[in-house]
Amino acid sequence: MSSELRKQRTDTGIFRWSVDAFCGRTSCKNQRREKFCESSRRNPAEQPLRAFFGYFLPPRAKSIIARKRKEAHQFINNNTHKEKNMRKIAIYGKGGIGKSTTTSNLSAALALKGYKVMQVGCDPKSDSTKNLMEGKRIPTVLEQLKAKGEALKLEDIVFEGFGGVLCVEAGGPTPGIGCAGRGIISAFEKLAELEAFETYKPDIVIYDVLGDVVCGGFAMPIRGGYAREVFIVSSGEMMALYAASNIAQAIKNFGRRGYARLKGIILNAKNIENEQELVAKAAAEIGTEVVQYVPRSGDIQIAENQGGTVSEFVKDSPMVQVYNELAERVLAMSEDEEE
Ligand code: ADP
Ligand code: MG
Repeated sequence: MSSELRKQRTDTGIFRWSVDAFCGRTSCKNQRREKFCESSRRNPAEQPLRAFFGYFLPPRAKSIIARKRKEAHQFINNNTHKEKNMRKIAIYGKGGIGKSTTTSNLSAALALKGYKVMQVGCDPKSDSTKNLMEGKRIPTVLEQLKAKGEALKLEDIVFEGFGGVLCVEAGGPTPGIGCAGRGIISAFEKLAELEAFETYKPDIVIYDVLGDVVCGGFAMPIRGGYAREVFIVSSGEMMALYAASNIAQAIKNFGRRGYARLKGIILNAKNIENEQELVAKAAAEIGTEVVQYVPRSGDIQIAENQGGTVSEFVKDSPMVQVYNELAERVLAMSEDEEE
Protein backbone atom coordinates (compact mmCIF):
# COMPACT_ATOMS: atom_id res chain seq x y z
CA MET A 1 0.00 0.00 0.00
CA SER A 2 1.36 3.36 -0.96
CA SER A 3 2.47 5.64 1.83
CA GLU A 4 2.60 8.68 -0.38
CA LEU A 5 1.23 11.85 1.04
CA ARG A 6 -1.85 12.95 -0.79
CA LYS A 7 -3.54 16.28 -0.92
CA GLN A 8 -7.27 16.37 -0.64
CA ARG A 9 -9.52 19.34 -1.02
CA THR A 10 -12.34 19.46 1.47
CA ASP A 11 -15.69 21.18 0.97
CA THR A 12 -14.53 24.21 2.90
CA GLY A 13 -11.63 24.68 0.51
CA ILE A 14 -8.99 23.89 3.10
CA PHE A 15 -6.32 21.47 2.00
CA ARG A 16 -6.08 18.39 4.11
CA TRP A 17 -3.08 16.15 4.07
CA SER A 18 -3.49 12.51 4.62
CA VAL A 19 -1.27 9.48 4.48
CA ASP A 20 -2.52 6.90 2.03
CA ALA A 21 -1.38 4.01 4.13
CA PHE A 22 -3.51 5.21 7.01
CA CYS A 23 -6.50 6.33 4.97
CA GLY A 24 -6.23 3.23 2.86
CA ARG A 25 -6.63 1.05 5.90
CA THR A 26 -9.60 2.87 7.35
CA SER A 27 -11.38 3.38 4.07
CA CYS A 28 -10.65 -0.21 3.16
CA LYS A 29 -12.33 -1.28 6.39
CA ASN A 30 -15.29 0.98 5.72
CA GLN A 31 -15.62 -0.30 2.20
CA ARG A 32 -15.61 -3.88 3.39
CA ARG A 33 -18.14 -3.00 6.03
CA GLU A 34 -20.35 -1.29 3.48
CA LYS A 35 -19.98 -4.18 1.09
CA PHE A 36 -21.03 -6.61 3.81
CA CYS A 37 -23.94 -4.43 4.89
CA GLU A 38 -25.12 -4.13 1.31
CA SER A 39 -24.72 -7.84 0.68
CA SER A 40 -26.55 -8.73 3.86
CA ARG A 41 -29.37 -6.34 2.97
CA ARG A 42 -29.71 -8.09 -0.35
CA ASN A 43 -29.50 -11.54 1.19
CA PRO A 44 -31.73 -11.84 4.21
CA ALA A 45 -30.54 -15.37 4.98
CA GLU A 46 -27.21 -13.93 6.03
CA GLN A 47 -28.62 -11.61 8.64
CA PRO A 48 -28.65 -13.98 11.63
CA LEU A 49 -25.09 -15.11 10.93
CA ARG A 50 -23.89 -11.57 10.47
CA ALA A 51 -25.64 -10.53 13.64
CA PHE A 52 -23.77 -13.30 15.41
CA PHE A 53 -20.33 -12.97 13.84
CA GLY A 54 -20.28 -9.26 13.13
CA TYR A 55 -19.31 -7.86 9.78
CA PHE A 56 -16.06 -9.72 9.38
CA LEU A 57 -16.93 -13.31 8.94
CA PRO A 58 -14.62 -16.27 9.35
CA PRO A 59 -14.29 -18.41 6.17
CA ARG A 60 -16.49 -21.19 7.61
CA ALA A 61 -19.34 -18.71 8.19
CA LYS A 62 -18.97 -17.54 4.59
CA SER A 63 -19.63 -21.02 3.26
CA ILE A 64 -22.62 -21.38 5.59
CA ILE A 65 -23.90 -18.04 4.33
CA ALA A 66 -23.49 -19.10 0.71
CA ARG A 67 -25.50 -22.25 1.41
CA LYS A 68 -28.20 -20.37 3.38
CA ARG A 69 -28.43 -17.75 0.64
CA LYS A 70 -28.95 -20.45 -1.97
CA GLU A 71 -31.57 -22.16 0.19
CA ALA A 72 -33.38 -18.88 0.88
CA HIS A 73 -33.50 -17.96 -2.80
CA GLN A 74 -34.65 -21.44 -3.69
CA PHE A 75 -37.31 -21.29 -0.99
CA ILE A 76 -38.59 -17.89 -2.07
CA ASN A 77 -38.58 -18.86 -5.75
CA ASN A 78 -40.30 -22.18 -5.12
CA ASN A 79 -42.88 -20.71 -2.86
CA THR A 80 -43.74 -17.62 -4.82
CA HIS A 81 -44.63 -19.90 -7.72
CA LYS A 82 -46.18 -22.84 -5.89
CA GLU A 83 -48.16 -20.67 -3.52
CA LYS A 84 -49.41 -18.20 -6.02
CA ASN A 85 -52.89 -18.39 -4.62
CA MET A 86 -51.88 -18.52 -0.98
CA ARG A 87 -52.33 -15.27 0.95
CA LYS A 88 -49.41 -14.53 3.25
CA ILE A 89 -50.27 -11.93 5.85
CA ALA A 90 -48.26 -10.58 8.77
CA ILE A 91 -49.99 -8.83 11.67
CA TYR A 92 -47.56 -6.57 13.51
CA GLY A 93 -48.00 -4.30 16.53
CA LYS A 94 -46.77 -3.35 19.95
CA GLY A 95 -46.79 -5.99 22.70
CA GLY A 96 -50.16 -6.25 24.47
CA ILE A 97 -52.00 -4.17 21.86
CA GLY A 98 -54.29 -7.04 20.87
CA LYS A 99 -52.50 -8.71 17.95
CA SER A 100 -53.19 -12.28 19.05
CA THR A 101 -56.79 -11.48 19.95
CA THR A 102 -57.34 -9.80 16.57
CA THR A 103 -55.46 -12.51 14.65
CA SER A 104 -57.26 -15.44 16.34
CA ASN A 105 -60.67 -13.85 15.85
CA LEU A 106 -59.79 -13.04 12.24
CA SER A 107 -58.57 -16.60 11.64
CA ALA A 108 -61.77 -17.97 13.18
CA ALA A 109 -63.92 -15.67 11.00
CA LEU A 110 -62.02 -16.70 7.86
CA ALA A 111 -62.23 -20.38 8.80
CA LEU A 112 -66.00 -20.10 9.25
CA LYS A 113 -66.19 -18.64 5.74
CA GLY A 114 -64.63 -21.87 4.50
CA TYR A 115 -61.00 -20.84 4.16
CA LYS A 116 -58.12 -23.04 5.28
CA VAL A 117 -56.10 -20.82 7.59
CA MET A 118 -52.71 -21.33 9.20
CA GLN A 119 -51.81 -19.04 12.12
CA VAL A 120 -48.14 -18.80 13.06
CA GLY A 121 -47.42 -17.15 16.41
CA CYS A 122 -44.11 -15.28 16.21
CA ASP A 123 -43.97 -13.87 19.73
CA PRO A 124 -41.77 -15.40 22.44
CA LYS A 125 -44.91 -15.28 24.66
CA SER A 126 -46.17 -18.22 22.53
CA ASP A 127 -49.82 -17.50 23.32
CA SER A 128 -50.96 -16.42 19.87
CA THR A 129 -53.04 -19.49 19.10
CA LYS A 130 -54.31 -20.39 22.57
CA ASN A 131 -57.81 -19.04 21.88
CA LEU A 132 -58.06 -21.37 18.91
CA MET A 133 -56.83 -24.32 20.96
CA GLU A 134 -59.35 -24.35 23.83
CA GLY A 135 -57.23 -21.97 25.86
CA LYS A 136 -54.23 -24.31 25.90
CA ARG A 137 -50.70 -23.50 24.87
CA ILE A 138 -49.36 -25.74 22.12
CA PRO A 139 -45.73 -26.96 22.11
CA THR A 140 -43.54 -24.50 20.25
CA VAL A 141 -41.22 -25.24 17.33
CA LEU A 142 -38.19 -24.38 19.49
CA GLU A 143 -39.34 -26.71 22.29
CA GLN A 144 -40.07 -29.55 19.90
CA LEU A 145 -36.79 -29.07 18.07
CA LYS A 146 -34.98 -29.35 21.36
CA ALA A 147 -36.92 -32.46 22.36
CA LYS A 148 -37.02 -34.30 19.03
CA GLY A 149 -34.13 -32.91 17.00
CA GLU A 150 -33.94 -34.29 13.47
CA ALA A 151 -36.85 -36.66 14.11
CA LEU A 152 -39.22 -33.68 14.25
CA LYS A 153 -42.36 -34.14 12.16
CA LEU A 154 -45.01 -31.67 10.99
CA GLU A 155 -47.52 -33.16 13.45
CA ASP A 156 -45.23 -32.13 16.30
CA ILE A 157 -45.50 -28.45 15.46
CA VAL A 158 -48.76 -27.95 13.54
CA PHE A 159 -51.99 -28.41 15.52
CA GLU A 160 -55.55 -28.15 14.30
CA GLY A 161 -57.72 -25.79 16.32
CA PHE A 162 -61.17 -24.17 16.10
CA GLY A 163 -62.66 -24.23 12.61
CA GLY A 164 -59.73 -26.33 11.38
CA VAL A 165 -57.28 -23.42 11.79
CA LEU A 166 -53.74 -24.83 11.69
CA CYS A 167 -51.82 -23.47 14.66
CA VAL A 168 -48.05 -23.06 14.99
CA GLU A 169 -46.07 -21.29 17.74
CA ALA A 170 -42.48 -20.37 16.95
CA GLY A 171 -41.51 -20.05 20.60
CA GLY A 172 -38.64 -18.18 22.14
CA PRO A 173 -36.02 -18.32 24.84
CA THR A 174 -36.58 -17.52 28.50
CA PRO A 175 -37.14 -13.74 28.66
CA GLY A 176 -33.86 -11.91 28.97
CA ILE A 177 -31.77 -14.88 27.87
CA GLY A 178 -30.74 -15.67 24.33
CA CYS A 179 -31.95 -14.37 21.00
CA ALA A 180 -35.67 -13.59 20.95
CA GLY A 181 -35.87 -13.91 17.17
CA ARG A 182 -34.33 -17.37 17.05
CA GLY A 183 -37.70 -19.10 17.44
CA ILE A 184 -39.03 -17.34 14.36
CA ILE A 185 -36.03 -18.23 12.24
CA SER A 186 -36.12 -21.88 13.37
CA ALA A 187 -39.88 -22.09 12.84
CA PHE A 188 -39.69 -20.68 9.33
CA GLU A 189 -36.83 -22.95 8.38
CA LYS A 190 -38.58 -26.04 9.79
CA LEU A 191 -41.92 -25.23 8.16
CA ALA A 192 -40.12 -24.87 4.83
CA GLU A 193 -37.99 -27.97 5.30
CA LEU A 194 -40.97 -30.12 6.29
CA GLU A 195 -43.01 -28.64 3.41
CA ALA A 196 -45.84 -27.47 5.65
CA PHE A 197 -47.51 -25.33 2.99
CA GLU A 198 -47.33 -28.01 0.33
CA THR A 199 -48.77 -30.56 2.79
CA TYR A 200 -51.63 -28.56 4.30
CA LYS A 201 -52.22 -26.22 1.34
CA PRO A 202 -53.65 -23.34 3.40
CA ASP A 203 -55.49 -20.57 1.57
CA ILE A 204 -54.21 -17.98 4.04
CA VAL A 205 -51.19 -17.96 6.33
CA ILE A 206 -51.25 -15.33 9.08
CA TYR A 207 -48.11 -14.50 11.03
CA ASP A 208 -48.76 -12.86 14.41
CA VAL A 209 -45.60 -10.86 15.08
CA LEU A 210 -44.42 -8.69 17.94
CA GLY A 211 -43.52 -5.31 16.54
CA ASP A 212 -41.63 -3.42 19.19
CA VAL A 213 -38.58 -5.65 19.14
CA VAL A 214 -35.97 -4.53 16.66
CA CYS A 215 -34.12 -7.66 15.66
CA GLY A 216 -33.56 -9.69 12.50
CA GLY A 217 -35.85 -12.49 13.64
CA PHE A 218 -38.84 -10.23 14.01
CA ALA A 219 -38.29 -8.69 10.61
CA MET A 220 -38.06 -12.17 9.07
CA PRO A 221 -41.72 -12.39 7.94
CA ILE A 222 -41.50 -9.18 5.92
CA ARG A 223 -37.89 -9.52 4.87
CA GLY A 224 -37.56 -13.08 3.71
CA GLY A 225 -40.50 -13.03 1.30
CA TYR A 226 -42.67 -14.98 3.73
CA ALA A 227 -45.44 -12.41 4.14
CA ARG A 228 -46.67 -10.33 1.27
CA GLU A 229 -49.15 -8.16 3.11
CA VAL A 230 -48.74 -6.45 6.45
CA PHE A 231 -51.41 -5.09 8.77
CA ILE A 232 -50.50 -3.19 11.91
CA VAL A 233 -52.67 -3.39 15.02
CA SER A 234 -52.66 -0.12 16.92
CA SER A 235 -54.74 1.85 19.36
CA GLY A 236 -54.55 5.61 19.73
CA GLU A 237 -51.93 5.36 22.48
CA MET A 238 -48.68 7.08 21.74
CA MET A 239 -46.46 4.04 22.20
CA ALA A 240 -48.67 1.89 19.97
CA LEU A 241 -48.58 4.53 17.23
CA TYR A 242 -44.84 4.93 17.69
CA ALA A 243 -44.39 1.16 17.18
CA ALA A 244 -46.71 1.34 14.15
CA SER A 245 -44.61 4.06 12.60
CA ASN A 246 -41.39 2.06 13.17
CA ILE A 247 -42.92 -1.02 11.60
CA ALA A 248 -44.12 1.00 8.60
CA GLN A 249 -40.60 2.36 8.19
CA ALA A 250 -39.12 -1.14 8.33
CA ILE A 251 -41.57 -2.33 5.68
CA LYS A 252 -40.62 0.60 3.47
CA ASN A 253 -36.92 -0.18 3.92
CA PHE A 254 -37.33 -3.87 3.16
CA GLY A 255 -40.10 -3.24 0.65
CA ARG A 256 -37.69 -1.80 -1.87
CA ARG A 257 -35.90 -5.13 -2.03
CA GLY A 258 -38.53 -7.53 -0.76
CA TYR A 259 -42.16 -7.62 -1.59
CA ALA A 260 -44.08 -7.01 1.64
CA ARG A 261 -46.63 -4.22 1.41
CA LEU A 262 -48.30 -2.31 4.22
CA LYS A 263 -52.04 -2.80 3.68
CA GLY A 264 -53.34 -0.81 6.61
CA ILE A 265 -53.89 -0.31 10.30
CA ILE A 266 -56.41 -2.27 12.35
CA LEU A 267 -57.56 0.09 15.06
CA ASN A 268 -58.02 -1.98 18.22
CA ALA A 269 -59.61 0.62 20.46
CA LYS A 270 -58.44 1.46 23.94
CA ASN A 271 -61.22 4.03 24.30
CA ILE A 272 -58.96 7.05 24.54
CA GLU A 273 -60.20 10.49 23.55
CA ASN A 274 -60.49 11.20 19.80
CA GLU A 275 -58.99 7.79 19.14
CA GLN A 276 -60.35 7.31 15.62
CA GLU A 277 -59.18 10.76 14.47
CA LEU A 278 -55.78 10.27 16.09
CA VAL A 279 -55.16 6.91 14.45
CA ALA A 280 -56.52 8.05 11.07
CA LYS A 281 -54.13 11.01 11.17
CA ALA A 282 -51.18 8.81 12.14
CA ALA A 283 -52.11 6.34 9.40
CA ALA A 284 -52.12 9.10 6.80
CA GLU A 285 -48.73 10.29 8.05
CA ILE A 286 -47.21 6.89 7.46
CA GLY A 287 -48.90 6.59 4.09
CA THR A 288 -51.66 4.13 4.87
CA GLU A 289 -55.25 3.98 6.17
CA VAL A 290 -57.34 2.42 8.91
CA VAL A 291 -58.87 -0.72 7.43
CA GLN A 292 -61.04 -1.68 10.37
CA TYR A 293 -62.22 -0.21 13.64
CA VAL A 294 -62.36 -2.89 16.36
CA PRO A 295 -64.11 -1.53 19.46
CA ARG A 296 -63.12 -2.51 22.98
CA SER A 297 -65.58 -5.12 24.20
CA GLY A 298 -66.09 -7.25 27.28
CA ASP A 299 -67.19 -10.10 24.98
CA ILE A 300 -63.53 -10.65 24.16
CA GLN A 301 -62.85 -11.47 27.81
CA ILE A 302 -65.98 -13.66 28.05
CA ALA A 303 -64.73 -15.72 25.10
CA GLU A 304 -61.13 -15.64 26.31
CA ASN A 305 -62.11 -16.93 29.76
CA GLN A 306 -63.58 -19.97 28.04
CA GLY A 307 -60.43 -20.37 25.96
CA GLY A 308 -61.79 -19.21 22.63
CA THR A 309 -62.84 -16.54 20.16
CA VAL A 310 -66.15 -14.65 19.98
CA SER A 311 -67.18 -16.73 16.96
CA GLU A 312 -66.98 -19.81 19.15
CA PHE A 313 -68.33 -18.64 22.48
CA VAL A 314 -70.28 -15.37 22.12
CA LYS A 315 -71.97 -15.97 18.79
CA ASP A 316 -74.52 -13.18 19.26
CA SER A 317 -71.86 -10.56 20.08
CA PRO A 318 -71.55 -7.52 17.77
CA MET A 319 -67.81 -8.34 17.80
CA VAL A 320 -68.51 -11.38 15.60
CA GLN A 321 -69.73 -8.97 12.92
CA VAL A 322 -66.68 -6.72 13.44
CA TYR A 323 -64.25 -9.59 12.80
CA ASN A 324 -66.39 -10.73 9.87
CA GLU A 325 -66.07 -7.26 8.36
CA LEU A 326 -62.33 -7.37 8.94
CA ALA A 327 -62.19 -10.77 7.23
CA GLU A 328 -64.19 -9.37 4.28
CA ARG A 329 -61.85 -6.38 4.01
CA VAL A 330 -58.80 -8.62 4.04
CA LEU A 331 -60.31 -10.95 1.45
CA ALA A 332 -61.38 -8.08 -0.80
CA MET A 333 -57.86 -6.70 -0.77
CA SER A 334 -56.46 -9.81 -2.45
CA GLU A 335 -58.33 -8.83 -5.58
CA ASP A 336 -56.53 -5.48 -5.70
CA GLU A 337 -53.21 -7.17 -5.22
CA GLU A 338 -50.67 -6.72 -7.94
CA GLU A 339 -48.95 -9.94 -9.01
P1 ADP B 1 -50.73 -9.00 21.95
O1 ADP B 1 -50.90 -10.27 21.20
O2 ADP B 1 -50.64 -7.80 21.06
O3 ADP B 1 -49.61 -9.05 22.93
P2 ADP B 1 -53.24 -9.76 23.13
O4 ADP B 1 -54.00 -10.09 21.90
O5 ADP B 1 -52.73 -10.90 23.93
O6 ADP B 1 -52.06 -8.76 22.80
O7 ADP B 1 -54.17 -8.80 23.98
C1 ADP B 1 -53.94 -8.50 25.32
C2 ADP B 1 -55.27 -8.49 26.04
O8 ADP B 1 -56.06 -7.42 25.58
C3 ADP B 1 -56.06 -9.76 25.78
O9 ADP B 1 -55.92 -10.64 26.84
C4 ADP B 1 -57.47 -9.32 25.60
O10 ADP B 1 -58.25 -9.66 26.72
C5 ADP B 1 -57.41 -7.81 25.54
N1 ADP B 1 -58.02 -7.30 24.29
C6 ADP B 1 -57.48 -7.25 23.08
N2 ADP B 1 -58.30 -6.69 22.18
C7 ADP B 1 -59.43 -6.37 22.88
C8 ADP B 1 -60.70 -5.76 22.54
N3 ADP B 1 -60.96 -5.33 21.30
N4 ADP B 1 -61.63 -5.62 23.52
C9 ADP B 1 -61.37 -6.04 24.77
N5 ADP B 1 -60.22 -6.61 25.15
C10 ADP B 1 -59.26 -6.77 24.24
MG1 MG C 1 -49.72 -11.97 21.26
